[in-house]
Amino acid sequence: MSADFTGRRVVVTGAGKGIGRATALMLARRGARVVALTRSGADLETLKAETGCETIVVDLADAQATRAAARQALPADLLVNCAGTTELESFLDVSVENFDLLYAVNTRAPMIVAQEYARERVAAGKPGAIVNVSSCASFVDIPDHAAYCASKAGLDGLTRVMAKELGPKGIRVNGLHPTVTLTPMAVKAWSDPDKAAAMLGRIPLGRFAEPDDIAEVILFLLSDAAAMVHGLSMPVDGGFMVA
Ligand code: NDP
Repeated sequence: MSADFTGRRVVVTGAGKGIGRATALMLARRGARVVALTRSGADLETLKAETGCETIVVDLADAQATRAAARQALPADLLVNCAGTTELESFLDVSVENFDLLYAVNTRAPMIVAQEYARERVAAGKPGAIVNVSSCASFVDIPDHAAYCASKAGLDGLTRVMAKELGPKGIRVNGLHPTVTLTPMAVKAWSDPDKAAAMLGRIPLGRFAEPDDIAEVILFLLSDAAAMVHGLSMPVDGGFMVA
């Protein structure tokens, strides 16, 4: 049975497109009051028209703006750190600018948003749950993804420490690791048919994920059905990790 989020306020970053948008829509369908954060105002307008959610435009590469947006979004019962970005470069060509950008958006921003969320929950004496959307790329080498793999591995480190420190305060924290998921990011990263075919060949279930495949598991990890699930790095990958 699907979890009911009626009356629960949930912050979702990266809610404009792809997995974040699918998550925001699914949460709204299941009763949540969603607070959607992302960069493109136009995406938020259409999401608001569909769901009536609250919206905050923010560039998560900007640490100060990220902290201000996180504070504006609070208080919230639950948090999904989903926003992410990538740039394809071979290791020898990784630029410092792109490395810093990916680190800022994929690693530092989730930390800042989670800090603000968790401080508020702890001060209010209330429990909570956080899902950090990582990637199979934090476990597995993927050529041309050096900065991305590093940024997601950094996020995993944060997730583990957050689980250790926030668990005793009543806040569950889990990481979720999608395989290739059919979103605008996947178009950017996997439009080369040879690379896509090789990747698909490593997925025993024989397909890439749809955004709703990932959103369903995010909602499970947020829900009370996952009350004893904590500190997990959960692949949602059609078996990619065991292939
Ligand atoms: P999309 O590119 O489709 O959507 C990403 C969302 O994050 C967009 O709304 C985007 O806004 C927002 N975002 C990106 N950069 C910023 C920024 N600087 N400030 C604010 N918002 C920003 O990505 P996916 O839905 O595919 O990815 C969602 C998460 O899942 C990411 O963390 C990604 O790393 C992870 N993931 C994705 C996989 C895939 O194959 N798709 C596989 C494994 C993990 P805007 O468009 O305005 O920039």
